Amino acid sequence: MTRVLRGIGVSPGVACAPALTLRWDFPEVKDRTVGAAEVEGEVRRLREAVDDVVSHLKGLGERVLQRAGPEESRIFDAQILMAQDEDFLASVETLIRKNQLSAETAYEFRALELRAQWSGAARLRERLADLHAIQMRMIQRLLGRTDTELWSLPGDEQVIVVTHELSPGLTVQLDRDYVVGLVAEEGTRTAHAAILAHSLGIPAVMGAAGALSEIPNGTMLLLDGQSGTIVLDPNRDELEEAKVQVSRRHRLELQLESVVGEPAVTPSGRPIALMGNVDLPEEIEAAIRHGAQGVGLLRTEFLLTGRTSLPTEDEQTEYFRRVALAFPDQTVVIRSFDLGGDKFPASFKAPVEANPFLGWRSIRVCLDQPEVFRPQVRAVLRAAAGHDLHLMLPLVTTVGEVQEARDIIMEEARALQKEGVRAAPSIPVGVMVETPAAVLMADRLAEVSAFFSVGTNDLTQYTMAVDRGNARLANRFTPHDPSIVRQLQRVLEVGKAAGLPVSVCGEMASEPLSAVLLLGLGYDCLSVSPPALPLVKWVIRTVPEDSARRAAEAAVRAGSAAEVSNVLRETVGEYIDIRLLDPHSALPGRGRVATLPPGKSSI
Ligand code: PEP
Ligand code: MG
Repeated sequence: MTRVLRGIGVSPGVACAPALTLRWDFPEVKDRTVGAAEVEGEVRRLREAVDDVVSHLKGLGERVLQRAGPEESRIFDAQILMAQDEDFLASVETLIRKNQLSAETAYEFRALELRAQWSGAARLRERLADLHAIQMRMIQRLLGRTDTELWSLPGDEQVIVVTHELSPGLTVQLDRDYVVGLVAEEGTRTAHAAILAHSLGIPAVMGAAGALSEIPNGTMLLLDGQSGTIVLDPNRDELEEAKVQVSRRHRLELQLESVVGEPAVTPSGRPIALMGNVDLPEEIEAAIRHGAQGVGLLRTEFLLTGRTSLPTEDEQTEYFRRVALAFPDQTVVIRSFDLGGDKFPASFKAPVEANPFLGWRSIRVCLDQPEVFRPQVRAVLRAAAGHDLHLMLPLVTTVGEVQEARDIIMEEARALQKEGVRAAPSIPVGVMVETPAAVLMADRLAEVSAFFSVGTNDLTQYTMAVDRGNARLANRFTPHDPSIVRQLQRVLEVGKAAGLPVSVCGEMASEPLSAVLLLGLGYDCLSVSPPALPLVKWVIRTVPEDSARRAAEAAVRAGSAAEVSNVLRETVGEYIDIRLLDPHSALPGRGRVATLPPGKSSI
């Protein structure tokens, strides 16, 4: 029997508990026809089931609102929209009437059809888990069964949930007192459920292929949400080792607490601007608490999550002002909507595409859809009155895109002035360097940009031709590849020569070994996810610049990602007990999906 399973550690922490396997398969539906006189009754039954499922989801949303927060509970708003999809329900009704089928037979037929369609479309992959959850609930209800909710499962023992795929909806329902760990066969660090598990503080491993067949229900598991390992029936030595790790991490946490109030300077005194990445409003507080010096990446996609209409200019202005006020006298870099690819909210009707990551996304959408971009630009300009706000354009590939965006920004600034609305007369507009095209054109982009910020998540995806969300390719997705290191070096060189501030806001900056690489390359501004701020600051304060520089020089000359990782491990290992750092620092494939979730809004 397999003793150890490996997946991707997506939420750190160690847990030891018996497995609770959840197989969310569709219940068996026996094909059933009905008499002509019963057809309308079946249609009514279908509609009643929708009402029931919707009110049940509302209840779940309220419960999650109390236990987790508004962002988490919005997942259910999105699921409700999905459950009420009129086109889909009308097609089920037609089938009932035309073929005299029972409501559950017709529903299952259409459900399977829809799932097959969605599975083929990469951009809908993230939403599939929610679709599955809704359809399960509907079929259960039509068969007269009640849903099993995670918190109503029998037993009072702590468990590690093992399942095929975690939907964000399922993840937010988890009771932390009871569910102490999560294992999913599907998913990567970019899966929204992974981000939620992290923010809920539940250790989790995803992409653990074969977990359901390898782990019988009730098996004692030892799970490490950092290294991504799951030990089945751990022996005494393994448990002892886990305890040592837990206490090591605890010591590290204590050490990190002591640096929060200290400045981010290298041992030789070079100050490093350490900013925060903010995806959700909840993270503002965490960024402040962990000592962020402003926001280097304010993702805005969450403004569209779980809603059926675009956010208004006033709503956006209010949010941007709120963030600006939270960081007085500091810079906040607002990124314009980065829609498309893996971020498609319900309010944004996008066409199905064969290659969404190479498709209509980000700046392309903004330039083509004035009703999306212009209100956001106006909101940024309005909020920038009296505040240090910058605007950053994602997924730039050509100079023309930046020029076009700048023209729109200038037009709106003039319009606001004419209208007598209080707004900044202009705003620094920068480029998110996250495509090889932008790297190669950095000198020309510098002529039309106020700053550069390197988005290493997408830069890695596009350079290595590796889908950042594909679990099977997770170990190929690494910004330690020399091709990325060389691009990082080039962007900094070109940006500096043009006198531009250059920072890194991709997840790589949040990983201690990679942060050392960036410092060694000469970067002096990093924007990192709030929980990583103390660790990155500690590393900055500990590893001498000379060593970082030598490691970076070796990384630029290296022939493989493994070589780069080894150099970094050796360098950092001279000053820090490397076992304290995330083992994934060796292969930092992490790339968070911008914002909240699912369903029709699987952001
Ligand atoms: C990136 O691509 O590196 C980035 C920071 O943006 P996102 O992860 O939102 O695509
Ligand atoms: Mg990106």
